[in-house]
Amino acid sequence: MNEIFLYEQKVNKDADYNLWMMFPNVTSFAMSSLGYLWLYKLIDEAENINTERICTDTKEIKINPAKVDAIGVSFSFDFDFLGMLEILDKYKIPFKSKDRENTQFENTLIFGGGPVLTANASPYEDFFDFILMGDGDELNKIVIDICKRAKIEKKAKEEILKKLSEVEGIYVPTLKNKVKKVCCNIKETVHTPILSENSFFPKTFIIEVSRGCSNRCGFCIASYLNMPVRFADYDDIIDKINLGLKHTDKIAFLGALVSSHPKFYDILGYIDNLIDNGRHIELGISSIRADAITPEVIKTLVKAGQKHITIAIEAGSERLRKVINKNLTEEQIRNAVKTARENGLKGIKIYAIIGLPTETDDDIREFIRLAKDLKNENKGFGITFSFSTFVPKPHTPFQYCKREDTESIKKKEDYLKKEFHKLGVGAKFSSAKWDYYQTVLSNGDSSLTDFLIEAYKLGGKLGAFKTAAKNLNIDTDKFMHGKTDNEFISTIPDNNYLKKEYEKLINSK
Ligand code: SF4
Repeated sequence: MNEIFLYEQKVNKDADYNLWMMFPNVTSFAMSSLGYLWLYKLIDEAENINTERICTDTKEIKINPAKVDAIGVSFSFDFDFLGMLEILDKYKIPFKSKDRENTQFENTLIFGGGPVLTANASPYEDFFDFILMGDGDELNKIVIDICKRAKIEKKAKEEILKKLSEVEGIYVPTLKNKVKKVCCNIKETVHTPILSENSFFPKTFIIEVSRGCSNRCGFCIASYLNMPVRFADYDDIIDKINLGLKHTDKIAFLGALVSSHPKFYDILGYIDNLIDNGRHIELGISSIRADAITPEVIKTLVKAGQKHITIAIEAGSERLRKVINKNLTEEQIRNAVKTARENGLKGIKIYAIIGLPTETDDDIREFIRLAKDLKNENKGFGITFSFSTFVPKPHTPFQYCKREDTESIKKKEDYLKKEFHKLGVGAKFSSAKWDYYQTVLSNGDSSLTDFLIEAYKLGGKLGAFKTAAKNLNIDTDKFMHGKTDNEFISTIPDNNYLKKEYEKLINSK
């Protein structure tokens, strides 16, 4: 058995409701996705429900597709639709909700949730009967209760959807109801409920220490879609660390910005103390702000087996970091690298973005100057830059910005590649072409559904998207601007706030 369940499983032999929980990627990714596993646990704990995990590489199924009452799809990345269509295809389930009418799946409810759908469900909405907007912790349980009861009462699908549309946070595409994004309090610290060897991070016990980020960088959807920021309770985090350590040595902290937890240093101190007392622990932290790095933090990470650390500077110049609200000084970045080196790490990875609003050639040159200085100041220390490209996202202040065209981004990329090579500093680049299609999906509308299906049918690779657009005569360039007409979803903050914030940032010197 390569799975350890950390909660009590219900044995539901006579369960009267069958649910597939779909993860639109391979099993090892599903088993490392805290959000997916946590929802699986919440639903699996409910009475009278048969729940099955379905991934793109699932070979044998327990619940026959014809007997499935509902399929919940976890949607975390823009391209997850490819995995979803692959699974539906495999079990011969029609992709669009309306095409499931008059088939054996006409009563199967297919619903989705996750950050991508909350941010912009429009391109995908025809696939779903309903969509959960915002935190799913409580909402999924409410949904399942309604659906289970409706089955017992033999309600028609239209009636169930009408009832669901009255629940805060549920959008029913056929009813076009207005919906308010749900934001819940963290009652219990979210943690890995099933430890698995077959995970991208094998047998790693993950703890969600924070949800959202108070820094509010102008482009950051993780911050804006999760306002206000919420932190897990310190004592509960300690309890969860102890729970995890009963079963594994590997602990990881998850959050948009883990170091912003008000007791971040105390939590690390607790781990440090355990290690000093002989407990072997391997610790992973998803995100630390450069100015939160201290000698003590690095020493703990080194003791806990880390060799590298990652910081995000986003822009090369202090001016541009101010515009995007990152507000990291160069001194803070230099100190972070120096502290990491002096206290035993082998290297640092620096995240950055090309094409941010107001970026000039000087800002690009600043990356090279900074890399050169960091290399000279930290001889023998492994420094790698990792560049992605700016994608305007809805619900952020930079939804009012346009993505730079791919050709111009490629020129900047080529220049940086050449200069970093000359410098002998490692530099990796995301694919500007994939980022282009990410922008299309992030800001697209429901006219894209057939384009998505066509891209899937053509193999889902980069060329497939181009050919699909050509075949269906879709002008993808028109989605390069951030989407601001989020007509059916109301979020906090609203467009008035975002516009003011955009103007403030863009005009900052
Ligand atoms: S610091 Fe990181 S997580 Fe926080 S708003 Fe900025 S980019 Fe997002």
